[in-house]
Order: sequence, then structure tokens, then C-alpha cells
Amino acid sequence: MTPLQARSLIWVLALLPAIVAVVMLRESDLASPEAVLNYLGRLTGIAGLALMLAAAILSCRVPGFDRPFGGLTKLWWTHHQLATAAFLLLLAHPILLTLAAASVSLDAAVATLLPSGLDWALWTGWGALLLLMLFLGPGYRFFGEPDYQRWKRLHRLAAPAVVLALIHTLYLARTLPWLWEAVLWLGLAALAVVSILYRFSWSRRFGRRPYRVARVVRPANNVVELELEAEGPALTYEAGQFVYLTPRDPSLVAGRGEEHPYTLSSAPGETGLRIAIKALGDASRAIQDIAEGSRVQVEGPYGGFFPQRSSPDAPELWIAGGIGITPFLARARHLAEVGEPVDIVLIFCVQDEARALWLDEFRELATTLPGFSLHMHYFYENGPLDSTFVGERCPNVETRTAYICGPGPLLGLAQKVAHELNIPRSRIVTEEFDLL
Ligand SMILES: Cc1cc2nc3c(=O)[nH]c(=O)nc-3n(C[C@H](O)[C@H](O)[C@H](O)COP(=O)(O)OP(=O)(O)OC[C@H]3O[C@@H](n4cnc5c(N)ncnc54)[C@H](O)[C@@H]3O)c2cc1C
Repeated sequence: MTPLQARSLIWVLALLPAIVAVVMLRESDLASPEAVLNYLGRLTGIAGLALMLAAAILSCRVPGFDRPFGGLTKLWWTHHQLATAAFLLLLAHPILLTLAAASVSLDAAVATLLPSGLDWALWTGWGALLLLMLFLGPGYRFFGEPDYQRWKRLHRLAAPAVVLALIHTLYLARTLPWLWEAVLWLGLAALAVVSILYRFSWSRRFGRRPYRVARVVRPANNVVELELEAEGPALTYEAGQFVYLTPRDPSLVAGRGEEHPYTLSSAPGETGLRIAIKALGDASRAIQDIAEGSRVQVEGPYGGFFPQRSSPDAPELWIAGGIGITPFLARARHLAEVGEPVDIVLIFCVQDEARALWLDEFRELATTLPGFSLHMHYFYENGPLDSTFVGERCPNVETRTAYICGPGPLLGLAQKVAHELNIPRSRIVTEEFDLL
């Protein structure tokens, strides 16, 4: 299944209750303008709640489930789109119902907007909408640069929001036959509950594997590469995948017991795991001082940057920026282990040579791995990356699959360059190191 097919399938499943509602449309629903408004109001409520439940189901984070979507970051994107669509539909829901009531009388409109006394059916609806605004708002850049930890804490409000929305729907549901309402809502709600229980209880207890920090290597002054030894069953993974790492070192000044996503920089054939971490914020800065011998937990693997089965002679163009080199490091180490000829051009973009991580190892690989070539792009010397720079160094560029990983601005630029060099969109693969 392609990522597009996987995403489309989720959208169709999420819209199923709304599709059923459209199929079961009654003549009376179209009898007058107010009936149409009322029907649209109910339809937006049904679609909004179903999309919200689908977004909750997608948050399950089961290793492997993200693969058909092109990796967990792409799956999060679908989750984000579902939640945004749900939010807009649920905002439209009371507005349309109020407009429908307004065509009957002003009193009816006011009663729809402002529930009186203990009208639980309406209060639960408003409560759900308010919570939805509170937990979704901070995730949009429109409201300022999002703070990840605050956003994560506020996201817990999603659970009561969904419960209130379900109560509201079960109180007022009258669009579909009773049995359909019960089966659709209870089915979707059960799936959402299982996903959330898996994510916040089961995976934390049974999905995290214990590892020990065997060695801390320092390839640069703000980067560490941790070498981890399994203290139980070892993780199996593919080159380029990532894990959630939870350090347990009691001496850490920040980020202890906090999970953060990091790409595995080791080759899958190695005995232990290697994880390279650049200091980019509180937790990643504190981990630079993690003690050797301390314990960490590893959950995963996630991601699908490189294909599961790739033909060794399928030509590739790799564009990496800064710490975005880690998935390529893992894959290059893996290819060196396998020892088969490849056709890969790596363009490694950094400010200057002093910031080129693992440069000696890549230079060595360029001489020992047949078909692998390395080209450094120094921003201070070469300016922003462009198609002339890449085109001159990469033969048959239009026949290649481009894999791009790096900070946001480089990601956008490299995609543009690949596009200008006639690499079709279907062969441009990106990995984002940003989840918001
Ligand atoms: C798929 C993926 C692979 C990554 N691989 C690497 C790698 O190999 N090496 C490396 O140095 N960095 C990697 N990162 C980035 C790394 O996760 C962040 O730098 C780190 O989480 C920053 O946390 P902080 O508290 O130090 O910084 P903050 O300033 O708190 O966060 C900076 C940004 O990091 C992200 N982030 C922060 N906390 C979390 C969290 N708990 N879960 C998810 N995202 C979070 C958010 O997008 C946030 O905006 C990867 C990120 C992703 C999504």
C-alpha cells in the first residue's frame, strides 16, 4: 500500500458515519431551508466527532503501524489534519444549528446557543468544543512558536473532550437509525480507547526496552553519540529508523524520564545501538552529560525513511543537513556491512568543515564502498544549495530517488532543488526532525 492509499483509507474510514448519514438522507431533511441547515448542522457534528475519534485512533504509536503511511512523522501529519478538520466541522456544527433555529424564532436560536439550567446534552457539547480549542490551539504556529512540552500536557485534554462529545452525541443523536448510531459510535470509541490505553499504559510498561549507556562518544562539542547495550531482548530495526529514548540517569539536569525521538545511527547488524544527539534544547543539551553505565529505555522502532526492500542498484541522491545526517550514517554503515555495490551520491550540507559530523567516516566510506560518493556543501563558501551545485555533482540525477533530511529550511530548499532537477514528487522522500 502506498502512503497516499493508506492516508485515503483512513479518511474514508473516518468519514464513514458521515457517509452513512448522507446515504440515509430523508426527504424531510431537504423540505425547507431551515431543515437543510439543521441537517448540515447535524452532519458536521457527526463528521467532526468521527474525525476526532479517528485522530485519537492514529495516536496509538504501535511500531510498524506507521510504515504504510511513510513513517511516524507522516502519520502524525495525518493525525494533525484529521484533528484540524474535526475542529473546523465542530465549530460549524453549533453555528449551522443556531442558524436553522433562527429561521424558526430568535428564542429558539438563543436556546440553541445558550443552554439553560442543567441541559446536559448541550453543556457537554460546549464543554467538548471548549476543551478542543484549548488543546488544539497551541499546536498551530499561527498562535506563536509552539512549546512542545506545554503542547503535550494540554493534549491530555483530548480525552475528556472526546468523552463529552460522545455523551453529547448519544443524548441528541437522531440523524441515523438507533442501531447505526450505537454500532458506529461505540465501535469508533472502543478503537480510540484501545489506542490510547496502548499508547499510555501498555507500551510504557511492555513496549520500552531497557538499555545501558555503555559509552559516550563526542564527535563534536555539542553532539554525543551514545553506545547502548541491551539489558533484555534487543531491538530489531532497519537503517534510518528512529526510537523514543527515555533516559533514567538521576544526575541529568533536564529531560530525565522524558521521551524524545532520535534516529538510530548504528547499522542493524551491530550488537548494540548507537544514537547521535545534538544539543538543540533543554533535554538534548542535558543528555550531553549523561553518565556512562546509566539506564535508558528505548521504544520503537518507528519511521520508514528508506524503503524496506530497495534494489541495490536503484540510484539514490542523499541530501543531508547538520544533524539530519544520522539516518544516512546508519544506512551507509549498513551498506558497508553488506558490502554490495551501490549508486549513491551524498550531498552533505553544513555551515563549514568544522561542523561536518562524521566527515572522516564518510570520507573513508567514499573510498571503500563501491558506487558511493560524497560531496560537501559549505554554506559559508557555496551559499544556499541550488540545482547547479547538485546537478554538476550528481550524474543522471533525474533517474534517482532523493532522500532528504535536515533542518526545516534546508528540507524545503532541497525539495525545490530536486524538483528543478526533474525528480518526480513520488521519488522525493523527506524525514522531518520536527513533530509540530
Ligand atoms: C523522527 C525524528 C528523528 C530525530 N532524530 C534525531 C537525531 O538523530 N539526533 C538529534 O539530535 N535529534 C533528532 N531529532 C530531534 C530531537 O527529537 C529533538 O532535538 C529533541 O527532542 C529536542 O528536545 P529538547 O527538549 O532538547 O528541545 P526543545 O527545545 O524542547 O524542542 C525542540 C523541538 O524538538 C521536538 N521535540 C521536543 N521534545 C520532543 C518530544 N518529547 N517528542 C517529540 N519531539 C520533541 C519538537 O518539535 C520541538 O519543537 C529527531 C526528531 C524526530 C522527530
